[in-house]
Amino acid sequence: VPFAALGLAEPLLRAIAETGYTAPTPIQAQAIPQVLKGGDLLAAAQTGTGKTAGFTLPILHRLLETPLRQARPGRPRCLILTPTRELAAQVEESVRTYGKHTPVRSMVMFGGVNINPQISALRKPIDILVATPGRLLDHAQQKTVDLSGVEILVLDEADRMLDMGFIRDIRRVLALLPKQRQNLLFSATFSDEIRDLARGVLDKPEEISV
Ligand code: AMP
Repeated sequence: VPFAALGLAEPLLRAIAETGYTAPTPIQAQAIPQVLKGGDLLAAAQTGTGKTAGFTLPILHRLLETPLRQARPGRPRCLILTPTRELAAQVEESVRTYGKHTPVRSMVMFGGVNINPQISALRKPIDILVATPGRLLDHAQQKTVDLSGVEILVLDEADRMLDMGFIRDIRRVLALLPKQRQNLLFSATFSDEIRDLARGVLDKPEEISV
């Protein structure tokens, strides 16, 4: 299938073309229609499969469907959790690349750096927040971020987040989110612990594996 057949908005197709991609990867061909439908997703996918575009493209599309009216300072509509700062930065860079012809605003936050520039950045409206769990909880405690408007949650590289001991942080974050939301979980491996997390987070997910 060509990208144009997947139903993505024109500004996204333009960004894809400029990036030089000619066709969706297998995970993109499976994930994009499911995310556009609003359904939950459980995806077995390694880095290098194109998984990042597989979730960022349809998320951008869905955020554009409602004209960004809910965007308030520090109140994202989409939350993407990643295990490391490197991955967080990389994912947010992808959001910027694919969203460059859209008005969608994104921000990345992670620990190990001064919190004050992040607090300043949170005074502006943001649509997509990419974060590592610990720093996100710091902001939630200080009420510099408001998670009550999250419509879409992504757990990226969930197996690595569990390996790094983030399960309690993830559960604390989950408790701060609205019950009604779309959930996407990506993991390279499927341990009992991941299955358990998936059962608690996902609602009738489509399962894809590449
Ligand atoms: P990821 O698995 O998301 O880390 O992506 C791995 C690499 O594949 C990144 O460098 C992307 O730029 C690239 N990529 C993603 N989607 C496509 C595509 N449809 N065609 C060619 N390259 C792609």
